[in-house]
Amino acid sequence: MTKRSKRTNSVYSDFHYEWDYWGCWYCGWKRGRCAPFYPYDLEVAHLIGGRGRRKEDVRAIILLCTWCHKRAHGERVVVRGKVLPRITLAEMLWLKRNVDFSNYDRAWLRTLKRDLPRARRPKGGIYASARN
Ligand SMILES: [Zn+2]
Repeated sequence: MTKRSKRTNSVYSDFHYEWDYWGCWYCGWKRGRCAPFYPYDLEVAHLIGGRGRRKEDVRAIILLCTWCHKRAHGERVVVRGKVLPRITLAEMLWLKRNVDFSNYDRAWLRTLKRDLPRARRPKGGIYASARN
């Protein structure tokens, strides 16, 4: 194992340790609950992706279930015949700011992506109708 992958593992495993009990930040799914289909798991999802921009840093990640993660990458996810909408970067930024405020660093994120959108409350999921 290289130094780099050790560091990666500890950033991500610490993050899982801290947040897995919470479940998916978007839809609230937790391990052990019945799911519409498998495989289903909780995954570290990067706010900013792409070559040279994806960072192994707690400020750059949120926790999503497998299917919300696919939606964040623009993959087509169908549940009971219905196509679920894409989860946008603006929505992911809102989740980072509202769920994990102490690690929300918009200025730092802008060094990775200059045209960062404004954070926007998710249209679906557990925070869609929450007051804020
Ligand atoms: Zn989810």
